[in-house]
Amino acid sequence: MKKFNLQSIVRDNIKKLKPYQAKEIPCRIKMDANESPFSVRLSEVIKEIDIPLNRYPDPEAMKLRKSISKRFKINLNNIMIGNGSDELIYYLILTFGGPVLYPIPTFAMYGIIAQSVGVQTLESKLDKNFDINEKEFIDLIKTKKPSLIFLSTPNNPTGNTFSSEKILKIIEIAYKRASIVVIDEAYHPFCSEKGFLPFLRDFDNLLILRTLSKIGFAGLRIGYLIGHEKILNEISKVRLPYNVDSLTQCIATYALDNFYSNIKRFIKEIVKEREILQRELSKLKGIKVYPSEANFILFKAKNSKEIYQKLMKSGILIRDMSANIKDALRVTVGTKEENAEFIKTLKNILEGYR
Ligand code: PMP
Repeated sequence: MKKFNLQSIVRDNIKKLKPYQAKEIPCRIKMDANESPFSVRLSEVIKEIDIPLNRYPDPEAMKLRKSISKRFKINLNNIMIGNGSDELIYYLILTFGGPVLYPIPTFAMYGIIAQSVGVQTLESKLDKNFDINEKEFIDLIKTKKPSLIFLSTPNNPTGNTFSSEKILKIIEIAYKRASIVVIDEAYHPFCSEKGFLPFLRDFDNLLILRTLSKIGFAGLRIGYLIGHEKILNEISKVRLPYNVDSLTQCIATYALDNFYSNIKRFIKEIVKEREILQRELSKLKGIKVYPSEANFILFKAKNSKEIYQKLMKSGILIRDMSANIKDALRVTVGTKEENAEFIKTLKNILEGYR
């Protein structure tokens, strides 16, 4: 076979990237990806799907947007649907470019997408409580004038919310410098705080990002962006016309209209289980647990890498976060039985170190 020089045409910023680690690792108990542990089969959500497959999907996802509009009391024109919120993050960076500012550690895709699009990233380390380092963050806004600021609250992977006062200060300062602030509320359903939707009235540089992935529909790939029409109009210019397929639009609409009481029940159960899991983890010697407002918990243990491997050997898959936070592991809240087995197995592993 004749070989051409592939690397000569790969853009430099892509050469530096590694493919996102989203491999399927076989396991018995899956607690690694912040999904809902409650099985939702398609047949439970919708009995019959009747859509014309010979036609393209509705490019405006009108029915789904109407469902979201009704369910969350948001004006229809302030909603844009994405193939997961990942896609919307991509569109945002494609539309507004850089620099892109975010605190670290946080959701990796802000940085990965910025790098692949080829724009500058600005990273500000969170403080020891995993809250925003206010002075440094605001200085970066003032001196570097980022086009976009991403704040995941509750934050992935730390699980805490950032201080609302700090966020509001950031939005206000960003507003004066024409920076857009994206509050990523992927984990808002599990959080005891109100969230930032009410502030859309006050600031037209504010966007809210939400997803169905964490509340039982990670397989569908539906994220939605909420914000002022004039911002969404700009993003529409880069949005692929048929970014969400007909099947997904139909199932997501049905889920929001007819399955929502179940979704709410699952969320309640996850929050209850999170509190128990947090309490049980904190009883274990050698474990430092961080408070969580999300559907996962971050904790530290001395032999974190080995613990991760040993859990996996027992069939329990969690997430090793030690590359970003020293000794850290992240566990997604599972069902009552899954959490109990996780705690029991972890306890046994820790006793082996004594
Ligand atoms: N934002 C945050 C903070 C996340 O943790 C995730 C998923 N891990 C996403 C966005 C992406 O969600 P989606 O499945 O909607 O692309």
